[in-house]
Amino acid sequence: MEALKQKLVDEGIKPTFQRISILKYLEENSKHPTADMIYDFMRKKMPTISKTTVYNTVHTFLENGLINELTITGQESRYDINTHNHHHFLCRNCGKIYDVDIQCPHGLPGKDVVDGHKIDEIHGYFKGICQDCLRKNSS
Ligand SMILES: [Zn+2]
Ligand SMILES: [Zn+2]
Repeated sequence: MEALKQKLVDEGIKPTFQRISILKYLEENSKHPTADMIYDFMRKKMPTISKTTVYNTVHTFLENGLINELTITGQESRYDINTHNHHHFLCRNCGKIYDVDIQCPHGLPGKDVVDGHKIDEIHGYFKGICQDCLRKNSS
């Protein structure tokens, strides 16, 4: 908890118990949740927490670069505590989102330019059928 608290302080975010708990959930759950999934989980531990608090916290974390937002499904935002440059694979069958650890050959965010434009972020979205589903279908 102390390390998480310090992480918030370092970003200039007031480390309330609710914010620390949400950060903890994100760190221990790298399954790219939606804000609603975070809310559902938090509500079980803290019945008094409001949806607004969860949404506001997620936005505060986003603004401060503690998390990244993925729009891979096209329907909802998913949140990722892993802010290192990496890509994602969405399974069309089970809906699971996987981290894909390959380097984009066109440049590095914060370093390179593309057609004269400076790159801040790179998001690679791959979609298809994941290896778990492929295995289940072939057996
Ligand atoms: Zn799948
Ligand atoms: Zn990820």
